[in-house]
Amino acid sequence: MLPLPIKAPSGRPLLVLAIGAHPDDIEIGAGGLLLGLAESELRTRYVVLTGTPERQQEARNAARSFMPAADLTIELFDLPEGRLPAAWGSVKEILEDVAGSCSPDVIIAPSYDDAHQDHRTIGELVPTVFRDQLYLAYEIPKWDGDMSRPSMYVPLSASTAQRKVELLHKCFPSQRGRDWWDDEVFLGLARLRGMECRARYAEAFRCAKSVLVPGAP
Ligand SMILES: [Zn+2]
Repeated sequence: MLPLPIKAPSGRPLLVLAIGAHPDDIEIGAGGLLLGLAESELRTRYVVLTGTPERQQEARNAARSFMPAADLTIELFDLPEGRLPAAWGSVKEILEDVAGSCSPDVIIAPSYDDAHQDHRTIGELVPTVFRDQLYLAYEIPKWDGDMSRPSMYVPLSASTAQRKVELLHKCFPSQRGRDWWDDEVFLGLARLRGMECRARYAEAFRCAKSVLVPGAP
């Protein structure tokens, strides 16, 4: 399969906007991708819309752990967890403020068809605010069983997949007690997505629209 590299335009770092409804969403959905992107020069705007002070601290630590050398701007909000559809105007306003002050190359955010109402609200709003970016919608395993058919894959080596899971455990101690929070869920999904793209492990994304440029260097 022809790989499509994610590269910054020459002369500047890649600009990434990572959006999560909850602390840990970004890392569960795209932690492997972030570990890969962070090997090159990277500028990341990291936005999480809900979270208690304890969980916000976890998000801060996680952003720095997954992207240790990146130029990071972290913005954490405390909108009501589980109620983002009712906070639609606030979510839109926050995203519009972000869009007004940065123009990312790549957006990493939840999908419009995610079964969790908070994830879905963000997924529905992102394309109404950002219209000129590559938008990769990540997936998060959950009780609802909403795994869908991805269109983009990021292959991960065994060591990167392992590193992602180690960092998830280390960075989000408040979540370790959840019955779904374990190596088998994270690595099992990554192994399945890896099988689908002929890699050992992978993360998968939905991309509703992308622009191909024939002959680009
Ligand atoms: Zn979430």
